Amino acid sequence: MNELRYQVDLLTAKNQKLSVQEKMYRLVCETSYSAFLYYSFEKSEITLLGKWDSFFDFRIKDWKDLGRLYEMVDEPYVEPLREIIFLEKKQEQDAVTECMLRERRAWLEFRAKVFYDEEGVPQDKIICVSDITKFKLQNEELTYMAYYDSLTGLYNRNYFVRLLSEFVRRAQEEREIVSVLLIDIDDFRKVNDGLGIIVGDELVQQVGSFLKEMSSEDIIVCHLNSDIYCMAIYDPTGQKAVGKIHERIQERMSKPFHLSGGQELNTTVSIGVAEYPESASTALELIGCAEIVMYKSKDMGKNTIQYFDTPILNAFLQNVQLENQLKDAIYSHSFELYYQPQYYAGNKRLRGMEALIRWRDGSGRMVSPAVFIPIAEQNGAIVPIGRWVMEEGVRQYAKWRQNQDNSMVLSINVSAIQYMRDGFVDELLQVLSTYQVHPQEVELEITESILIEDFEKVTAKLRSLRSYGIRVSLDDFGTGFSSLSYLKKLPIDTLKIDKSFIDTVLSDGATRVITESIISMVRTLGLETIAEGVEQEQQYKYLHAIGCDIIQGYYFGRPLPVQEMEALLDKLA
Ligand code: C2E
Ligand code: MG
Ligand code: MG
Repeated sequence: MNELRYQVDLLTAKNQKLSVQEKMYRLVCETSYSAFLYYSFEKSEITLLGKWDSFFDFRIKDWKDLGRLYEMVDEPYVEPLREIIFLEKKQEQDAVTECMLRERRAWLEFRAKVFYDEEGVPQDKIICVSDITKFKLQNEELTYMAYYDSLTGLYNRNYFVRLLSEFVRRAQEEREIVSVLLIDIDDFRKVNDGLGIIVGDELVQQVGSFLKEMSSEDIIVCHLNSDIYCMAIYDPTGQKAVGKIHERIQERMSKPFHLSGGQELNTTVSIGVAEYPESASTALELIGCAEIVMYKSKDMGKNTIQYFDTPILNAFLQNVQLENQLKDAIYSHSFELYYQPQYYAGNKRLRGMEALIRWRDGSGRMVSPAVFIPIAEQNGAIVPIGRWVMEEGVRQYAKWRQNQDNSMVLSINVSAIQYMRDGFVDELLQVLSTYQVHPQEVELEITESILIEDFEKVTAKLRSLRSYGIRVSLDDFGTGFSSLSYLKKLPIDTLKIDKSFIDTVLSDGATRVITESIISMVRTLGLETIAEGVEQEQQYKYLHAIGCDIIQGYYFGRPLPVQEMEALLDKLA
């Protein structure tokens, strides 16, 4: 009896435990976001659990009801779904398939698992159905972000580089050409600064969608950054294909872009082109080469196309090398000043000298200032270089001046960047006072390029300099704007007629007429004229005859190193 009672108690306890467990599993199923289909192989029975009713508006009692399920999903997913549902084979991992629903833009995931007995006979199967739409959309967005640029919808830089690398690999195999175009909107900063970045963005979008129209299997386009796009063309005809694309771009750019704010914008682009295998052999190098020539297009006045070639690469590499050496040159004292004498045309007496900088690069080679000054102007090295020229020139002049009875004029070339800096005038005055040189014995040579700056600011500074007695001359006259009318407004003392005039003044009638009118006009303004680059006696005689005041050039003397200039001064003293 006791034994029986014990068995009953045990059974009751087991039952209680089982119902607690069953309740627990049911709750888990109910609170999960998934629907479950349970199949018992032994009883051939289907049980639906979890969120079935909120996923489907039908129930499945036996296998023939499955047709409803297949009807729900898009055609390509029917077969994989069937495989999952009838899964019996032993598998290490769950079998999974994703299905897009026919009517709603929603995704379901079906995950199946079969459980076997010890002999390997299938016993139970669970199919778990989950809504993965949100996850899919997020994934799509991430994929989009990985490949595309959100502003323009074009490929982004990273993906473009991958595709371009693939082009290059294919071209290597098939011995073909890949052209890379770097396309930059001209004067984009003006649009951004003047009309705001929203308008700027819209322009970038519109140009981008125009470029996108040209994309195809063999033409890929990306938005590199800001207002720069990159296009790669896989094409055996190379420059011919580029020519056609360029024509289409030109045609589009000849018409305005209509923006949503009602503005009409006319714009142009500068293009640089590099080619595989001619210019470079990797995607990044090709983009780099196209960039170099794109900037060359900008320098050449924008709205043009430039092709990369070997001389351009060499010039570029040389510039980079020079740029690095220039930065060191200031500290390694590898600059030197030469002095070129200037003579009065009338009595052939020495008027003074122009200080001209000389530089020996790392290998001891003399580099022309015409080459390195523009580089120094670009990388800012001109500021310390200019300061050094000013101090060294004045220091040397002061020494020479001690042995001379008459005053002379020391001409110093000044770059626009140097001139425009605050404190420039004070710096010069400081140097003059340190070496006790009279301001009237110093002449600053500026060029017309300075007039790109704010005209009022430029002239105010000129007036300030002249109020201290410092002289100012306009160098290389005739190579820039060459306008005589603005000369009247410029408070200067001297005008230097550029060598290019002097070169042809004897042989070319038109040059003669212009030179004569410049000199007579300048005289009426009360300015002095200097002719530079005078190499022949004939030139000197002619210039003297038409009223040019001062002569500088190889005919009278080349730029001289310090000792030789000193010897010349000693002879004259
Ligand atoms: P620039 O100021 O117009 O100087 C005149 C240039 O013509 C000098 O070239 C001079 O050597 C050269 N020259 C003078 N007479 C003759 C001649 O009869 N025939 C020929 N063929 N050439 C002649 P350089 O010294 O090579 O200087 C070139 C330019 O570099 C200068 O043109 C000037 O713009 C710039 N530069 C030189 N030194 C400095 C400097 O210290 N600071 C700045 N900012 N620029 C400088
Ligand atoms: Mg000069
Ligand atoms: Mg000059």
